[in-house]
Order: sequence, then structure tokens, then C-alpha cells
Amino acid sequence: MFVVGVTGGIGSGKTTVTNLFQQHDIVVVDADVIARHIMDKGGEALAAVSDRYGQQALFEDGTLNRAWLRERIFQHPEDKQWLNELTHPLIRQQILTQLQQAQSPYVILSAPLLVENRLTKLCDRVLVVDVSEATQLERTQQRDDVSADQVQSIMNAQASREQRLQAADNIINNEADEAQLVAQVEKLHELYLRLALAKRS
Ligand code: ATP
Repeated sequence: MFVVGVTGGIGSGKTTVTNLFQQHDIVVVDADVIARHIMDKGGEALAAVSDRYGQQALFEDGTLNRAWLRERIFQHPEDKQWLNELTHPLIRQQILTQLQQAQSPYVILSAPLLVENRLTKLCDRVLVVDVSEATQLERTQQRDDVSADQVQSIMNAQASREQRLQAADNIINNEADEAQLVAQVEKLHELYLRLALAKRS
């Protein structure tokens, strides 16, 4: 399978871009969605959390009390490490499974932390959606009704624009309007179809 990793900082336009690839019938595997579901009821990860912390980590219906766990790992760095060691391999495995099952000429792996979590190793090409930090701030604030400080602190926890661009094979400049985005995606889609075909033969 030919895998294109798509990444970019908060508010850069990853979802907007991957939606456009989906319109070309390309399967998009979303690492964020997988990460959110890894703690679903009945799964191995939730069982491990419940073994470690007992009922206090769960709601009465047996689902995870995410706010409780967030506070716990905020207060106890060693618990954060434990949780990462538990969830990261499970998330990676689920990503691999979904990539392998994808039925399209190539597949997109969308992950805000593609570079930070070294998911680039799973990718044949890395596509970075790039905008200035000022644009990230403006668009995220408009979308989420959050303060500039809140967006800035998320940006500070992510890879820098330079680190991300260093990992890029292709870059989409998303400063312009969405019509120009469509044209850039169209060109890249043609490129990835050719590269995927070349990999298969
Ligand atoms: P996050 O990492 O926070 O999930 P994201 O990278 O997926 O963000 P999007 O949600 O796609 O980013 O885009 C952020 C906001 O900017 C959205 O409200 C989207 O509609 C808007 N947006 C995206 N591209 C453009 C553009 N070219 N012009 C104007 N607005 C845009």
C-alpha cells in the first residue's frame, strides 16, 4: 500500500485538505479518531486503566472518565509515561490495520503529530499543510471560539513549522482561498496515483 502522511499544525487545514482527497475516493485513516477510540469500552486499553486505577477512573456505565484521567496524568508524570506506553503501540497497530485494509489506489494517514510521534516511518510520502502561525491563530480562534493564548500553548506543544517542513516531501500552501487548495490537491492526487502505480509494478 502506498501511504501518504498528511500533517500540519493546529488550524492549518488538514481536515479541509483530507476532505478534498476523499472526494477523489481516497481512503483517509485519521490517527486522532483512532486515538480517541482506543479507550472505548470493551477494549484492552480501558481494561488496563481500570486494573490500575479501579472504579475512580470510570463512569458508572463503565466508560472512561477522560477528565479524571487527564487530571491524573497532569499531576503524575510517571502515569503519563505509563499511559503513553500502553496506548501508543495499540494506536500504531490500529493505524497499520486500517492502512492495510484500505481499498483505494493509495491511502492517506492524517495525523497532527505525524512528525512528533515518528509516524513518518509508515509513510511513502509526507505532505505538510503549511500556513503562517498568524493564520493558524486566526483560523483556529474563528473556528473554536478559544483565546489566542490557548491556541498558542497548543502550538508550543507541537513541532515547529520548520521541523515539520523539514520532514515534508510535498507542501500545500494554504494561505490562499479554498479554490486554490482544490487545484493543489488535484495536482498532488495525480502525482500520488502515479507513484502508487510505480510502487506496485
Ligand atoms: P486541527 O488540527 O485543529 O484539527 P486542521 O488542520 O484540521 O485543524 P481545519 O479544521 O481543516 O484545520 O481548518 C481550520 C479552519 O480554517 C477551519 O475553520 C477551516 O474551514 C478554515 N480553513 C481551512 N482552509 C482555509 C482556507 N484556505 N481559507 C480560509 N479558511 C480556511
